[in-house]
Amino acid sequence: MTIAIKVENLERVYGSGEQQVRALKKVSMQVMAGQFMAIKGRSGSGKTTLLNCLGGLDKPSAGSIEIFGSELTRLNDDQLTKWRREKVGFIFQSFGLLPTLSAYENVELMLRINGVPFRQRGERIEHCLGLVGLEKWATHRPYEMSGGQQQRLAIARAIVTKPQLILADEPTGELDTETAGIILELFQNIVANEKMTIFASTHDSLVDDYVDGVLQLHDGAIQVA
Ligand code: ADP
Ligand code: MG
Repeated sequence: MTIAIKVENLERVYGSGEQQVRALKKVSMQVMAGQFMAIKGRSGSGKTTLLNCLGGLDKPSAGSIEIFGSELTRLNDDQLTKWRREKVGFIFQSFGLLPTLSAYENVELMLRINGVPFRQRGERIEHCLGLVGLEKWATHRPYEMSGGQQQRLAIARAIVTKPQLILADEPTGELDTETAGIILELFQNIVANEKMTIFASTHDSLVDDYVDGVLQLHDGAIQVA
């Protein structure tokens, strides 16, 4: 089996002196390829910090992060940006869609950023919009859609570049239970059919029924269940 995420003794310290916050404390963990894993923890436990480090959006103070064999702490900024664009899809609690672009254009933007030629985009975009059940919403803007639809669009956007890893930071945080369930089912479907690995943070116990495993974060440290 392939290891998707391997973290060892990860530390992230914000600030200095008396203001210092040790947001991650010797975090070590693994996620296997093809898994849908959740990290749970209260607000302030370090979930966002961990996901940002895993996705190369933030740099750890110490420790190592290997994603599908790439040691992120050895990449320079340009290499990290390139790696992130090609290998990672991000999903956020507040969706992060561009309001002036249609659903189709929001998804297309990621392919444009990655330099995918125009004629290769259409089929892939339609596949992804279909996968999240939004084929009929291609020309609509995000504000014309419900929260659940917007998050499904954000999922289509995250997967369109065929990343190996999807990082989702409280993806169901702004959704009601029923809609959250639809999103979590979609994640299961993506892991099963699109050959991606998903690592999602949450403080919702609903995820337990959908994931392959749960890690607990408490005050910046992984708790052994
Ligand atoms: P969670 O996502 O689980 O709510 P965070 O990773 O956002 O947790 O935060 C973990 C800890 O780090 C908290 O104590 C938070 O206040 C602190 N923190 C997060 N980001 C910063 C920052 N940019 N500067 C200083 N402290 C921060
Ligand atoms: Mg957070």
